[in-house]
Amino acid sequence: MQQSYLNYINGVWRPALNSQSITCYCPSNAQPIATIPASSAEDIDAAVKAARNCFDSHVWTRMTATDRGRLLSLLGKEINNRVETLSALESMDTGKPLSQARNDIISAARYFEFYGGAADKIGGETLPYLNDYQVMLLREPLGVTGHIIPWNYPAQMFGRTLAPALAMGNTVVLKPAEDACLTPLVMTKIAEEVGFPAGVINLVCGLGPDAGSALASHPEIDFLSFTGSPEVGAHVQSLTAQNHIACTLELGGKSPQIIFTDADLDAAIPIITRAIIQNSGQTCSAGSRVLIQKGIFDTVIDKLKDNFKTLIAGSHDQDCDLGPLISAKQKERVEAYLAHVPPEFILAQGTIDSQASPSGFFYPPTLIGPLEPNHQLSQEEIFGPVLVVLEFNDEDEAIRLANGTRYGLVSGVWTRDGSRQIRMAIQLRCGQVFINCYGAGGGVELPFGGTKKSGHGREKGLAALLEFSQIKTVVQYIG
Ligand code: NAP
Ligand code: MG
Repeated sequence: MQQSYLNYINGVWRPALNSQSITCYCPSNAQPIATIPASSAEDIDAAVKAARNCFDSHVWTRMTATDRGRLLSLLGKEINNRVETLSALESMDTGKPLSQARNDIISAARYFEFYGGAADKIGGETLPYLNDYQVMLLREPLGVTGHIIPWNYPAQMFGRTLAPALAMGNTVVLKPAEDACLTPLVMTKIAEEVGFPAGVINLVCGLGPDAGSALASHPEIDFLSFTGSPEVGAHVQSLTAQNHIACTLELGGKSPQIIFTDADLDAAIPIITRAIIQNSGQTCSAGSRVLIQKGIFDTVIDKLKDNFKTLIAGSHDQDCDLGPLISAKQKERVEAYLAHVPPEFILAQGTIDSQASPSGFFYPPTLIGPLEPNHQLSQEEIFGPVLVVLEFNDEDEAIRLANGTRYGLVSGVWTRDGSRQIRMAIQLRCGQVFINCYGAGGGVELPFGGTKKSGHGREKGLAALLEFSQIKTVVQYIG
């Protein structure tokens, strides 16, 4: 039986005011699994008002930072306690293999633990100023923060965007993606059970152009955190600009993995493969380009080919190497990108599990190249399990190619030369550099975010607490 989920506004579970709903499907077989409210601007307005009233009543901000932190930690603990049911739900809703979904739930819990612990460790400062004056910089919450998240990591995104905002004392309104939002709904229920006061967390489901736009343009939010496509990112930023509020944008990437001739290939190849097939390539920080130095080009290609040929895409519950794409639309998008690639450029492909449903949105893992740096597939985010191969001669060219897209989110550098590691790290235009390792999506502690069209602002780590707070300068005459 399909479960009907509701919005959570001011501590009450309720349908959309227009009574409309959206059907959710499992990407492995296109079967309906649930319905969610198809909310509109009125529901968003109710949620923002609830968050505003809650913030203004000080029920959340006057709670000591320690107690707020305890609640966050308790939510993390309860998410961990329910890791099996939440993983199964995340896996069915997104199509990702069960073991990957389990890691995502553990990460979601970890966000609440991390920021729960941090809540009472961030304070203000004092400043030297004129004689007879004392200056204090108070670090305060922003107020009501809006959050729009994508479908690729609903559970992780719930923790990543909400936990730091809540830790700093903000009240929040979340609009998850229609394509996958069931674990955020269940984790909100858990937040209610562990005792978050009504109005602190509000969740409204619905389509981007309706509920998402209404949230981004609402005059009573104080900040917007957005993760998704560059196009919608630009749109929501234009909406927040109308109300003169700030936003963070996390908009994806075309992240390079750069392999020099002195790299440890046995270590690099499995990690490079995993960095693109994880979540079927639908990861903002996926390592989607591999830049190989001349001299080891054929060796690396042969090893990658061997790896790709063994990969199997299958139903989420079969726990294969990868699952399906999220939707028919996403599959069409990947197919359209690959449609004009001549067959000789397809270096290797994995397979689709023979047990997999023909109705599922499967795309086999694919290795293509060598492509020119300005080829569309070398430049654009495909958001599928497609690894593009490019060749370079020397360090300068590696930097030029790595930095030569509109994106700048993450880079991987594979070399044993310690000086080169640092030279590369300094010159790469992106928010994270991994040296002889790669962590697509991982690391709650590690500040994360983009340059260029990958967006702006930093999430994760203690850096996120600064994004979700502001300084108030207090000048006291003490003479
Ligand atoms: P998207 O449209 O940018 O969706 C991201 C979020 O924004 C969803 O919650 C979406 O809601 C919402 N949204 C859509 N239109 C909106 C609007 N006019 N105003 C306010 N909010 C709006 O991304 P997508 O269509 O799902 O995916 C398209 C491409 O974006 C992908 O192929 C990929 O390249 C990129 N992407 C990047 C990330 C990332 O992690 N950086 C994540 C997802 C996608 P609904 O989906 O519910 O309508
Ligand atoms: Mg779904």
